[in-house]
Parts: sequence; structure tokens; C-alpha cells
Amino acid sequence: MDEIERCGVCGFVWDEVDPDDCSSRILASAGSFADLLETHPGASMVRPTASTWSSLEYACHVRDVLLNLRDRVVLGVVEEIPHPPAMHGTPRVELGLYGDDTPGVTAADLRVAAALFARTWDRVPEDRREQVLVYGSPSGVPRTLNWVAAQALHETEHHLADAADGVHVHEVEAATDGSSTERSSDRRATANIFGIEHVQLAMPRGREAEAIGFYEGVLGLRSVPKPDHLAVRGGCWFESGEVRIHLGVADAFVPASKAHPALLVRSLPELVSVLEAHGIEVRVDQPLEGFDRCYAHDPFGNRIEFMQRRVG
Ligand SMILES: [Zn+2]
Repeated sequence: MDEIERCGVCGFVWDEVDPDDCSSRILASAGSFADLLETHPGASMVRPTASTWSSLEYACHVRDVLLNLRDRVVLGVVEEIPHPPAMHGTPRVELGLYGDDTPGVTAADLRVAAALFARTWDRVPEDRREQVLVYGSPSGVPRTLNWVAAQALHETEHHLADAADGVHVHEVEAATDGSSTERSSDRRATANIFGIEHVQLAMPRGREAEAIGFYEGVLGLRSVPKPDHLAVRGGCWFESGEVRIHLGVADAFVPASKAHPALLVRSLPELVSVLEAHGIEVRVDQPLEGFDRCYAHDPFGNRIEFMQRRVG
């Protein structure tokens, strides 16, 4: 029986990708990635830990992956059963080959690499997409061109989340001046959340500070300014990687106690401990197939579900 191939970190499932969506999704993610480098040039060059790549290093890696996989697609169209050489992605970083790559230049590179991949992929004839090539690492694994396109998408989306996490960690540390003497109630589930299934929530007028205290101060999302023309209405926006939650003011506010967003988190136990440290009641629910999950309520009584995919 074939196991479903699923990324243990971000939950990406290669077989669930529609090959016709790969190009548009790669262009969108690479564009967000480039935006991240351009808007956070300083933070993008800092490694969150000594062994974690900086956002800029992840961007260089994704650029090279897109260029490399584009060539693999060409090989797969031309040759019968190609054996492409290994890419050696990690040594490129560790040997310092990206040392001269700046955020501005790499942002432009990334957009070009994504556009090159997308234009090539869109020209692959339908009857060649199941063509197999043999990957050297892990050794001898046969992969279809559809898988290669899904892999290009996975690398882009997965590392965009890594890069956004890295920038966010740096900003949190800069904001707290690197202080490690936080009280437990100051703890936040830094960059724990990496996916979203629903977007807009309502809140009562005039309580933005409480919203920021919960969504940023507890959940670790980043509060972002609303565009000027929308800011007059009140409410607040939050982001983490690709996740965007907008709280909009409802004058006749009624909490959504049944309808809810379901947020994907990297570590449910960590999130639960942070919520409990803030005195927020957590209801652990029956596991759903493939997930552990729990519920909590925001300061306005809106129900929020948190889900962690089980690995294996
Ligand atoms: Zn992944």
C-alpha cells in the first residue's frame, strides 16, 4: 500500500496539488517571499539561531531550487528516463556561495526564477507530465514531472513560512531587546501558527488593545497596520507567514461561538501551555483523523480552533 507523502512540518501533500495550479501558486509565494526580503532587509539577513538559515539564505535556496527543478522538467520532457545530478542545496549555503547575495538582488532573482519555472512548466505537454525521472537523493526514487512541479511549489511555500518565522523571531527579539527575563504571562507561541482555513472575525468597537493583546501577545501573530482608508473603521489585522486574520468592528457584535477559524500550529502542547499561562481556558477536543486539536476563545468570545497534524 502506498503511503501518502506528506510534509511532516508544513503538512503539504504532493498528490493533492493540481498540476495546473502549480505555476500560479509558485508565482504568488515567490512574490510574497520577495516582498518579505524587500520589506525586512535587515531582519532577513539574521539567523534566528546559529543553525537555522536566515530568511535570505532560504530565499537563495528556493531560487536555486526553482532554477534546478526547471532544468529537471526540461530533462524529463526530452529524455526517456533521466537521472539528474544532485543539487547539493545545503552545501551551497554552508560553503558560503550565497555570501554576496543581498536581499534586494535576491528578491529580484526569486521573482525571475519563479517566472522561469512557471513559463516552462506551463509549456510541458499534457502527455509528458507523468514522465518519470530518477532522483539521486534519496537514491533511485522515481518521480513524475507532476511531482517535480509539486515539489517546486512545496519548496517555495514551505520555506516562505520558514523565512517569515525567522523575520518574526528577529523582530520579537529586537522589540524585547533580547531580554530573556520575560514573565510567564509574557510568553507567546512565537510563529507557532503557519496555516489558516478561515479569515474574517468580528469584534466590538473600541477594544483593539485587547485584540492585539490576544492575537499578538498570546498567539504570536504580528499586528499589521490597516490601510489608511480602512483604518478609520477600527478593527485590526494580524499576520504570520501566509496566515492573515482580520478583525472587523461590528456595532451589533455577537461572538461567533460556533462558527470558527481553524488554525494549523506546529506544536499544540506549546500553544496550550502558553494559553494556560495567560489563564485562557482550553478545551481539548477529540482528535480528528490525522490531527490533534483544541479550542479556546478570544477576548470577545469568538471560538478559535487550533489543529496540529500528526506525523506518520
Ligand atoms: Zn513542508
